[in-house]
Amino acid sequence: MTDCIFCRIVRKEAPAEIVYEDDKVMAFMDINPANPGHTLLVPKAHFRNIFDLDEEVAAYLMKVAVRLAPAIKEAMGAEGLNILNANEPAAFQSVFHFHLHLIPRTFGDGIRPPWIPRPGDPNQIKAAAERIRKAIERRVR
Ligand code: 5GP
Ligand code: ZN
Repeated sequence: MTDCIFCRIVRKEAPAEIVYEDDKVMAFMDINPANPGHTLLVPKAHFRNIFDLDEEVAAYLMKVAVRLAPAIKEAMGAEGLNILNANEPAAFQSVFHFHLHLIPRTFGDGIRPPWIPRPGDPNQIKAAAERIRKAIERRVR
């Protein structure tokens, strides 16, 4: 993926404020931060998103996220942190190289939840569960 911006950052052909890297992953600052300290954690190998992500890589990414999150929280004097991930444009993905957003949070920082929780229709919830159970049965087992 030669023209992928995150691949270019991983190869150090494009500039980035790198805060962590090892042989499999890299973390660098988001250039449009939601809050100060907004960090992106990416696999060095190119995956578009969750739908083609390698499971071992995913497990390792989360392992590193568990290590970086408290460091980011401490460094920024944050009170919390969101991990966010977008897959496909319908879900707000704009860079098509898998990444986790690590966003430090403080009370009153103005970031709003993306949905307002409202009780769902129990029949719809049940029907969705049926469909998902069937799909999991088909694909996962
Ligand atoms: P997405 O919308 O795909 O979940 O997130 C992509 C993120 O990548 C955005 O928050 C955006 O600000 C960030 N981004 C886009 N281009 C660059 C870049 O060239 N360098 C860095 N560091 N971040 C970028
Ligand atoms: Zn890439």
